[in-house]
Amino acid sequence: MPEVTPVPLSTLTTLRTGGAPTRMIDALTTEELVAAVRDTWASGDDWLVLGGGSNLFVGDQPFDGTVVRVRTSGIERTPSPRSGFARLRVQAGHDWDALVAFAVAEGLAGIEAMSGIPGTVGAAPVQNVGAYGQEIAQTLVEVELLDEATGDVSTVPAAELGLGFRTSVFKHHYGSVAARPAVILSVTFDLEEVGAGEREVVGSQLRRALGLADGAAVSLAWVRDHVLAVRRSKGMVLDDADPDTYSAGSFFQNAVVSASFARTLPAECPQWPMTPDIDPVTIIPLSAYDGVVAPPASVAADVKVSAAWLIENSGLRKGFKLPRSRAALSTKHALALTNRGQGTAEELAELARFIQGRVQSEFGLVLQPEPVLVGIEL
Ligand SMILES: Cc1cc2nc3c(=O)[nH]c(=O)nc-3n(C[C@H](O)[C@H](O)[C@H](O)COP(=O)(O)OP(=O)(O)OC[C@H]3O[C@@H](n4cnc5c(N)ncnc54)[C@H](O)[C@@H]3O)c2cc1C
Repeated sequence: MPEVTPVPLSTLTTLRTGGAPTRMIDALTTEELVAAVRDTWASGDDWLVLGGGSNLFVGDQPFDGTVVRVRTSGIERTPSPRSGFARLRVQAGHDWDALVAFAVAEGLAGIEAMSGIPGTVGAAPVQNVGAYGQEIAQTLVEVELLDEATGDVSTVPAAELGLGFRTSVFKHHYGSVAARPAVILSVTFDLEEVGAGEREVVGSQLRRALGLADGAAVSLAWVRDHVLAVRRSKGMVLDDADPDTYSAGSFFQNAVVSASFARTLPAECPQWPMTPDIDPVTIIPLSAYDGVVAPPASVAADVKVSAAWLIENSGLRKGFKLPRSRAALSTKHALALTNRGQGTAEELAELARFIQGRVQSEFGLVLQPEPVLVGIEL
């Protein structure tokens, strides 16, 4: 077992908080990963799988359990059963942005708008990562996972992963009941073979972010370069020299509210209608069928509202910090809570609670954190 000397999680997480766990294992191959996780489950210890640490908010108390770092890598390209697509099976520890760079270099479309998202490929399905209108649910075929319930390795199609807005069956805050405790070993995508040439950019959100007119044609490489530039300007690409990137990206999720609640918010608050749930199939037992099928209940689509707007319009500007605190809102992005250096998890949590309180008293809704909380509560 590749056990290593435990190091503080503050050195392995982008919010830079957390003490050293009791035990730490670095898994460099899938076999090591499976063996380490099975061994930890058998011991009954608490466990935490760690990728790039970019979506974790870890408390100040040392984690009393085993941290397994996923450090596998590798991309396998095979033909896809879908004509015009290539299939990529990627090891869980592979760097996400390295995968995007590979896909763009190979002329494969579908993940280029997600350039610059930190972390590993194995963690990407956990919150169905996304940016500028692209999310991995659009290209994900299946994941190979090790399931705690059975102890077995199995392949699970994307449709069974409960992928939604920044969520999936894998996303849980430490300590709460997990929908499906499992470790992702590899992730398989189908990406469209479009080559290096220029093509129309799909998605109005992406076109707007890149300043492109409808119908404008650019290459995948152009999209990647410009997405990276936009993200850098917002502190959304990790950079040791820029404390605005000592964050977990967006700390709060855009709030999903009912259409009627959304109408109570100021009209200037950006809102995006969500796709309504498809009506469930109504099954009428033959014995109860009287020749009449009730019309489907009308489903009013929920609305996603901008958490950044709510924060800024509750009176908290970019760069805001509480007195004497080493936690602050990013100076470039109102949604990113940042650690300005040696700040504790408690200082960050205090700021998060303060923001939640301000937004709740101003607009009547509680913003929910996006990162996974380990050993800390808001
Ligand atoms: C500057 C910055 C910008 C960001 N921008 C975006 C963005 O644009 N869009 C977006 O969606 N996210 C964004 N994020 C959040 C983050 O990068 C993603 O959620 C990323 O997928 C996390 O990957 P990770 O390897 O760092 O996961 P970690 O932080 O290590 O882990 C996150 C969760 O996934 C679990 N996990 C990790 N690996 C596995 C595995 N193999 N199997 C099962 N569970 C696992 C962990 O236990 C934990 O619960 C940003 C973060 C930062 C710091």
